[in-house]
Amino acid sequence: MDCFLCKGNLQERKVNYVVDLENTIIIIKGVPAKVCTQCGEQYFDDETAENIEKIVNQLKQLATEVTIVSYKENVA
Ligand SMILES: [Zn+2]
Repeated sequence: MDCFLCKGNLQERKVNYVVDLENTIIIIKGVPAKVCTQCGEQYFDDETAENIEKIVNQLKQLATEVTIVSYKENVA
């Protein structure tokens, strides 16, 4: 699989995923992703994307300004 944007090489890496919501910012650390070595675009597989969505849905109920969680600890 090549980068959709620039056709660069993708490399498996752990990234920090940042969700900027209206009243809170959620940072999920250590999310497995494929990252383009040329342009830095990040790709997540379906399972990971689903897990991210679940984590975000849980955390956005919290009234904190910034929430930082570890991906590993929040995926069963
Ligand atoms: Zn790219």
